[in-house]
Amino acid sequence: MKIDRKTAEKNEKIVLELSRKEENSYCCDCGQKGVRWASATIGCFLCINCAGMHRRLGTHISKIKSLTLDSWTDKEIEGMVRGGNRSVNGCYLAGGEERPCPKEPKDMERYIKEKYEMKLFQKRKEARGEQYGSEVSVLGEMGFSDSDRARRALLRTEGNVEEAISILVEDTKEAPLESKLADVFDGGADEEHTEERDVWEEVQTEDQEGPAERRERFEGETLFDDEENPWM
Ligand SMILES: [Zn+2]
Repeated sequence: MKIDRKTAEKNEKIVLELSRKEENSYCCDCGQKGVRWASATIGCFLCINCAGMHRRLGTHISKIKSLTLDSWTDKEIEGMVRGGNRSVNGCYLAGGEERPCPKEPKDMERYIKEKYEMKLFQKRKEARGEQYGSEVSVLGEMGFSDSDRARRALLRTEGNVEEAISILVEDTKEAPLESKLADVFDGGADEEHTEERDVWEEVQTEDQEGPAERRERFEGETLFDDEENPWM
């Protein structure tokens, strides 16, 4: 889809401003500081390593874009505004999952596959949510008629109705999308990121390769730099 320059510039500002929010400044999957990539289909902000793993899931699951080197459509931006790392983890995790060490790419890759492709943690949470049927009815009688929201709140409080009410009341106060957009709209553009451009160009080359060549290249790559890794 062709995006005109004005829209692209406006949307780049918005996505960069969103990436500066505290919740989005750490990778949604490994928790490392510094995000330059995002999944336009999932709505999360990612580090370079996790973004690479998302790309291997395929664009039907996760469409990875550079925050600055790709053009964003209005629809994608809307998804990013509605999403964000906190909301994505709230949706895809059941809570209490052990995050693998980013130093172990194989573990990290499996975790990302389980989280977004198999939706293992989400299913676990849904199964647990069915236990709260009577609490959901109680909340419904009190006027919290959206049972999905009520169940999500109960999951977060492990079935505590009073705490769930606090969450639901707090959520109601959340600003609507229009004002969220207005909040981020005036953000300034970022400076050039040379390292990121290198990777982006590499990605463009990669898209023209066959799977065998690609695998060869990935196997030869060093995924993690010890000095930059705060987990080790
Ligand atoms: Zn990461």
